[in-house]
Amino acid sequence: MKMSKLGYFSEFLLFPPLVLLATLLAFCSSNPPQPAIWVLVYGIGLFGWTFIEYLLHRVLFHHAPVFSQIHERHHRSPLDLIGTPAWVSVLLGVITVAIPSWAAFGFGLATAATAGLVTGYLWYVFVHYATHYWRLRKNSYLYRARLRHARHHHLSNGGNFGVTTGVWDHVFGTALEGRTSKA
Ligand SMILES: [Zn+2]
Ligand SMILES: [Zn+2]
Repeated sequence: MKMSKLGYFSEFLLFPPLVLLATLLAFCSSNPPQPAIWVLVYGIGLFGWTFIEYLLHRVLFHHAPVFSQIHERHHRSPLDLIGTPAWVSVLLGVITVAIPSWAAFGFGLATAATAGLVTGYLWYVFVHYATHYWRLRKNSYLYRARLRHARHHHLSNGGNFGVTTGVWDHVFGTALEGRTSKA
């Protein structure tokens, strides 16, 4: 849905304190996680996000009912702020990530997996915003992300589904090469 700037970025206000609070609770509990393992699981969650981002964009946003209609609006009007209300993403995050990882790893490491995925997700929201709105220094990471994502918009659903990284497009053969100046 189309949102105000505050609405669009409210996830940045809501997610970090929630994740931080859960992490503090985990480390202050009677059975705290081992810091090194926590960091490792956090890293796996962060990297795992890039794959989820690729899949969500390639499959859900371009082919699933409702999601594809919303995403189509973004393709038609890239400068409209179209996003998910923060309470919906928090609810989805709790149901699809926090609770299953709690069941799988226990509370301590579930906070690590969730924190990694949430960091990746917020990084994705930020990078996607920057690729459409910011003037970027040539050859910077964000500039390359902008070029990659511009090709995706230009050729619609032809490829370049990764926003934060092009690695999965290379793995699955959907990387678009070539030049375009259209964002
Ligand atoms: Zn876009
Ligand atoms: Zn798309």
